[in-house]
Amino acid sequence: MMSHIPSKLPNVGTTIFSVMSALAHQHGAVNLSQGFPDFDCDELLKDLVVKHLRLGHNQYAPMPGVASLREALAHKVNVEYGFEIDPDTEVTVTAGATQALFTAISAFVRSGDEVVIVEPAYDCYRPAVELQGGSVVSYELVSPDYRIDWSEFAKLISPHTRMVIINTPHNPTGRVLGKEDMAALENILEGTSIILLSDEVYEQLVFDGHQHRGVLRYPKLFQRSLATFSFGKTLHNTGWKIGYCIAPEPLMREFRKVHQYTVFSVNTPIQYALAEYITDPGIFTGLRAFYQRKRDHFLELLRQSPFDILPCEGTYFQLVGYSTLSDMSDLDFTEWMTREAGLAAIPVSVFYESGRDNKVIRFCFAKTERLLDQAGEKLARIGQLLG
Ligand code: PMP
Ligand code: GLN
Repeated sequence: MMSHIPSKLPNVGTTIFSVMSALAHQHGAVNLSQGFPDFDCDELLKDLVVKHLRLGHNQYAPMPGVASLREALAHKVNVEYGFEIDPDTEVTVTAGATQALFTAISAFVRSGDEVVIVEPAYDCYRPAVELQGGSVVSYELVSPDYRIDWSEFAKLISPHTRMVIINTPHNPTGRVLGKEDMAALENILEGTSIILLSDEVYEQLVFDGHQHRGVLRYPKLFQRSLATFSFGKTLHNTGWKIGYCIAPEPLMREFRKVHQYTVFSVNTPIQYALAEYITDPGIFTGLRAFYQRKRDHFLELLRQSPFDILPCEGTYFQLVGYSTLSDMSDLDFTEWMTREAGLAAIPVSVFYESGRDNKVIRFCFAKTERLLDQAGEKLARIGQLLG
């Protein structure tokens, strides 16, 4: 047996999503921690998958993805963003957004490069950068506003900066970047060779009249960008692990060099099914209202609890503060709440490298009304339990 295996990621443990879901399971708690719907995807979509399985679409798909799906995506981008992309050269279907992000980072980040990210950050960015020998420079958002001060952000850019990663709508804060944010970012990157990686998996989930301002709305910014998306998030099938990346041809060429040796291609029958399914424009239009109703219902339940409610403009996550209730660290608090109150959430400090603990936790409201109501009962009892 090897006595010592030097880790390439010595500081990485098991992701918080696995940890909290396991803890919720162990205590039979209502699980509002890991972000996934507890309801099923559309029967029609499942029927389409079966149809394509039976039609024999069961061998490797073309490396960049099934042509009809890439065409359907180019059409969707045109309808939603008024922007033309070439389905042959500017879209690649991936095994979830996670693979798209990893592939984009691997394709461009080299040893010694710096990558600027915004924390609290989704947890797959940093390890991907570090595996390439790059280092992460983080801009820390601060509770309760979680807004970017772009003049401070600009100070993090150096001659070593290879890439900036943004995420809008933002997990876990639920903030969306506005017009002014995108203009400031465009200004900062102007005249540099910095690549922008824009994680837009929650593009459809924006509330209260907010707009999703992704890079596909900004032709100049798009020229240096790769944008990543996830069908799992929009079509309630996170377990299918299908996503896609959109980038201008010169960047996509490099992306595909890595993609072809990471997965080569992804699940064929599901790609055919998705291509057929998303040609109905109505598929996406009802989503916002559907999730806005869930968010509003969850907010009503939260108002009967002692938590401080933070703004949620997008995503299916709601942050709450508990500093008036307890001195526990957010890790201890979520563990306690799962064990004693039967309700699981995610501690936000894990999304900061510094472990910044603002005593804020994240709930996922992509749940049936029944489960949200069960959570509501638990929420209402928290104050009492803390005595
Ligand atoms: N980015 C963000 C911000 C996420 O919340 C997630 C989780 N779904 C992903 C990327 C990964 O998406 P996927 O499940 O499609 O890999
Ligand atoms: N994106 C989901 C979340 O933020 C989890 C995805 C995962 O478990 N890797 O909760």
